[in-house]
Amino acid sequence: MQITRNSINTTAGPSEWFSGAVYVDTVATPTGASRLSASSVHFTPGARTAWHTHPNGQTIFVTEGVGLAQRSGGPIEVIRPGDRVFFEPGENHWHGAAPTRFMTHIAMLDVDDNGNNATWGDHVSDVEYATAPSIGGA
Ligand code: MN
Repeated sequence: MQITRNSINTTAGPSEWFSGAVYVDTVATPTGASRLSASSVHFTPGARTAWHTHPNGQTIFVTEGVGLAQRSGGPIEVIRPGDRVFFEPGENHWHGAAPTRFMTHIAMLDVDDNGNNATWGDHVSDVEYATAPSIGGA
């Protein structure tokens, strides 16, 4: 048993991988036989990942706010607390906050044999992002 106290600094998501301000707290790091990598990712309004894929897929579980997610070739979907999304291995996709809301999700995946968790592509342009459906509200 190993307790990691609440002592690890929050880190900013790098601009190569994200648009807008994103903050990441580490939940689980691959160690020994475990390939599990998990993070609590906090997106400010309008912030999102770039397009990317995961070698073994990824599950995200929304804990706060209102978010958006899209796979290549599909519509932008609105995601809310309690929603869970699985992205298939190699499926090109992005996820992030709605334009006017924060969004936090827990992201969980298994890294590959080399410890890689993702392959990154183009940023989601403002034009692409603007095609998101309305999230409703005032
Ligand atoms: Mn992803």
